[in-house]
Amino acid sequence: MDKEEKKTELDSLRQEIASCFACPLGKTRKNTVPGEGSHKAEIMFIGEAPGATEDEKGIPFCGAAGKFLDEMLGSIGLKRENVFIANTLKCRPPENRDPEDSEKEACRPFLERQFEIIDPLLVVPMGKHAVATFLPGAGGITALHGRVLKRPDGKIYYPLYHPAAALHNGGLRGTLLEDFAKIPAILEKIRANRATEPEKNNENIKQQKLI
Ligand code: URA
Repeated sequence: MDKEEKKTELDSLRQEIASCFACPLGKTRKNTVPGEGSHKAEIMFIGEAPGATEDEKGIPFCGAAGKFLDEMLGSIGLKRENVFIANTLKCRPPENRDPEDSEKEACRPFLERQFEIIDPLLVVPMGKHAVATFLPGAGGITALHGRVLKRPDGKIYYPLYHPAAALHNGGLRGTLLEDFAKIPAILEKIRANRATEPEKNNENIKQQKLI
């Protein structure tokens, strides 16, 4: 898919999401929060679900957790517009309750389409919900954060704690910043692997630690 097609596809997906009533959250949301960023992004960050501020504005991570996410992006020389930021759910669960499995299932095709269109080098699930969605059975966030995992679907994942966790537990702030600091080297390694061993990258390699 060329860059123009990616842009057009993402735009039409955004409209589809805006008219989605596949789960009950369609009735309680103020706005859908499809995700934002570059259609050419090499990294996709996936959070849990929109909160109150995101529901008001239709923009992912635009509240307190988002401020910290922006700061972490800045710490590795990136801006929102260089990456793509989305959530496992495109609508806010009332009272910020945890997403239900049925809601995650209903919303998952949208995320799959975003993966297909953007085709990122690296997927960064943030927090336990995103990790459980993409790395089922791989372990909890405490064990997995800061590890590079290649899954049988061929995608490369780098799970991190959720930025909001650092707002509640100051000790996690340093851990998140440390994990973030490794992203440029990880990307460099993936780019180099793709350039030198494209056929190996197409193999279904079991989950493994790359770095
Ligand atoms: N928390 C999330 O997981 N996503 C957002 O968009 C905002 C807060």
